Amino acid sequence: MIVTLAPDADPQGVRRALTEMGLWACRYDREEGPVCFTVQPWSEAVQPERILSLEGVESVARAASPHPLIDRQRLPLSVAGVRFGGPRQVLMAGPCSVESPEQIRRIASRLAPLGVRLLRGGAFKPRTSPYAFQGVGEQALGWLRAAADEFGMGVITEALGESTVDAVAAHAEMIQIGSRNMHSYSLLREVARAGKPVLLKRGMAATVEEWLLAGEYLLYHGAAGVVFCERGIRGFDPSTRNLLDLASVALLAHVHRLPVVVDPSHALGRRDLILPLSRAARAAGAVGLLIETHDDPGRSLSDGPQALLPAEFEELAKEMLRGESIGGTPPGREAGPTARPR
Ligand code: PEP
Ligand code: MN
Repeated sequence: MIVTLAPDADPQGVRRALTEMGLWACRYDREEGPVCFTVQPWSEAVQPERILSLEGVESVARAASPHPLIDRQRLPLSVAGVRFGGPRQVLMAGPCSVESPEQIRRIASRLAPLGVRLLRGGAFKPRTSPYAFQGVGEQALGWLRAAADEFGMGVITEALGESTVDAVAAHAEMIQIGSRNMHSYSLLREVARAGKPVLLKRGMAATVEEWLLAGEYLLYHGAAGVVFCERGIRGFDPSTRNLLDLASVALLAHVHRLPVVVDPSHALGRRDLILPLSRAARAAGAVGLLIETHDDPGRSLSDGPQALLPAEFEELAKEMLRGESIGGTPPGREAGPTARPR
């Protein structure tokens, strides 16, 4: 159950009254909008009418869904002044790994004039092999921030473990949770506590419901918003690195009405198919794209084969940021009770 308070209510007083009824209530605040309490399922059974009769309570909604906070998330969602779910596609781009101050500055200087306002690069890399390049580490966060500041961009970067969250949060407007960590609930909690928006990549074998519940963890523990990122799931065919699940993108965009973006780079693992799949992602309802690009992919320390060359990236950016979506971006949810996903 979600209990929403009136603007002039005394939240402490309402909490006391709820506790006296045997209800475990957790306060949930957003920057804008009223104070809410989520009532935990292990609370005593109390009729909503009794709660509604308490002074200061404006409405009581029964959560028929296991992810009520995600269901209430509204579009558009702003990150560093960039609107996910607004009229324009959002392009997040950069190298897989931040390799040096010169490398990230050079890439930022070519992406910013193309309309990329969110610079994405990894300082801590989740690599399947312990022998693969693991990222430069904390030092790279400063390089990333400096490059973004110089070219007026926001930063997205991954927090790989709980011990890295504070440093990442100090340098980024949006924190990425990588595919391998979508189920790391203690990391989700810690990242959420930083109070920033989160880019939540889908686990490579996660169901849509598990993905939504990971998002619920983030909102419940204080994240400012969640953008879902489809990056391909485990398939049986190695022709492409993963299987880009555009059906789930359409489901999130058009049924759940959530901000969903697509990362074709990790889905495909090869640069030649990124443009056609970016078009398909947009047609399916994705509000943005996460694309890896490198000035010299042959020398990239990670994910070189999927990094777009500068000219290829420019072609993609020009097409994706031009005019209206060919598939129609899903309309934002209006304020008010959320329609149940069918
Ligand atoms: C990445 O974004 O660089 C990355 C490693 O992605 P994923 O977590 O989707 O594998
Ligand atoms: Mn990568």
